[in-house]
Order: sequence, then C-alpha cells, then structure tokens
Amino acid sequence: MRFTVLGSGTLVPDPQRGPAGFLVSSQGAQVLVDGGSGTMQRLARLGIDGRKLDAGVYSHRHVDHCGDLVPLLFAMRVGPDEPRRGSYPIWAGSGFTGFLEDLEAVYGAWIRTDKFRASVVELPLTGPGQAALPGGVRLDTLPARHAAGALHLRFTGPDGYSVTFSGDTGPNENLALLAAGCDVLVTECATAEPDPWYSHLCPNDVLEVVKAARPRRVVLTHLYPGLDSEDALRHVAEAGVPVERGYDGLVLERLFGA
Ligand SMILES: [Zn+2]
Ligand SMILES: [Zn+2]
Repeated sequence: MRFTVLGSGTLVPDPQRGPAGFLVSSQGAQVLVDGGSGTMQRLARLGIDGRKLDAGVYSHRHVDHCGDLVPLLFAMRVGPDEPRRGSYPIWAGSGFTGFLEDLEAVYGAWIRTDKFRASVVELPLTGPGQAALPGGVRLDTLPARHAAGALHLRFTGPDGYSVTFSGDTGPNENLALLAAGCDVLVTECATAEPDPWYSHLCPNDVLEVVKAARPRRVVLTHLYPGLDSEDALRHVAEAGVPVERGYDGLVLERLFGA
C-alpha cells in the first residue's frame, strides 16, 4: 500500500501547500482520502485521472477537505471520454449522505445522472467503524474531536503497512488509540499554541499522541503558513520517534527490508 500526500496545507493560500488531500494506492486501486480545492490537478500531476478513482474516503465535511468533491463528480459525468457509469463509492462519517443530497439538490444532473451517482457508506460518530476498501485495504475509524462529522482514519494495506490520518481534531484519546503501533501517523499540527476551542492540535498535543501511540514515523500536515514548523518538529521529536514535515507529493510506503 502506498499513501501519497496530495495537499499538506489548509485553505489559507500557500504557494507550496494545497488544502488537505491524500491518495491510498493498493493492488491497482486508487482511493482518494479527502480532497480540498486543487486536488484534481495534483492527481493529474501524478498521472492519475481523478475521473477513474475507485473510491473516496472523507475525514469530515469542511471545505478544505472536500472542496473538490463537486468538480470531481462533475468531471466524472462529462468526460471527455465515455461518461462514467455506475456508482462512485464514498465512506465518511454520519451526515455525509445528507451533505451529498444537498449538493445534488444544488447541482442536479451536473453531478448525478440516471446512469451515475456517488453512493455513501456512513461510518459511526459514536464508536469504532470499519470498512473494506478497494485494493484489499482495511479502513478503521474512531470519532475525532472536531465539527462536521469528523473521524480519525487508519488504513492497513494487504502488505500490513498501516497509516493513520488524524483528520482535523482537538486533543482526545481516540487518535492515540487508533494510531497505536502503526507504521506512520500523519497528523494535523495546525496551531502553535493550544487551540482554545479544542478543534485542532498544537505541537505539544501531537507530542502526547506520539508518546501514547508509538508509531514508527510521524508526518506533520495541515500546516498553516504562520506555524513555525521547525519549532514543531523539534518539539514532537522529544517523543523519540522520527518526525518530519509533510509536503505535497510525499510518498509513504514500506521500503524494501523495512
Ligand atoms: Zn476541519
Ligand atoms: Zn482542515
């Protein structure tokens, strides 16, 4: 299984970082994980036609994580090749079905036809969730502390390689529970200081998660332009686990012999 960072930033315009977006690739299947604005183009730069994605998974419904959903569905419908038929499966937290229906009410046949439609499988916001994704990838979820139906996501490939993505979250014990012993923890590190609304993590919050979960590697993402990421890296590294700054295009996979 390969986990590619498509967007390591936020909605704040940044020449180096796009809004949140990731790609899980396994056994020829391509599963999009989140996808803020510009995700379709960043997929194309990797040689991947977004219209041919096998499935989507969304950590939550904020626009920096799903802003390209409508362009994606519109592109799937219009071609220029033969329009897509059948369904485009999406896994997301409870409430995503209604969210998609609201989008369909606005955009109608531009994103849904009698031959093509996105279909949502909702995952619980009250406890553990699980799904079998294309490519033999297992998805495990736990609720995050954030708005808009937010989940933590753990992907485990058929090769056993496991990547946990925090989604957006305030401090809570579920992230460390889900990430326990995984190969890579890809975690938001959005604020320099503790978030007074408990909706995002600061470096000290991430340090506590890493100490508890003991992943083999940590990647910081959702980096705001104003965050001193050098300082964040130094702080999180106190846990004794290798930590690095995520960037658009970063590829995570098991290296030979690892
Ligand atoms: Zn959010
Ligand atoms: Zn966000």
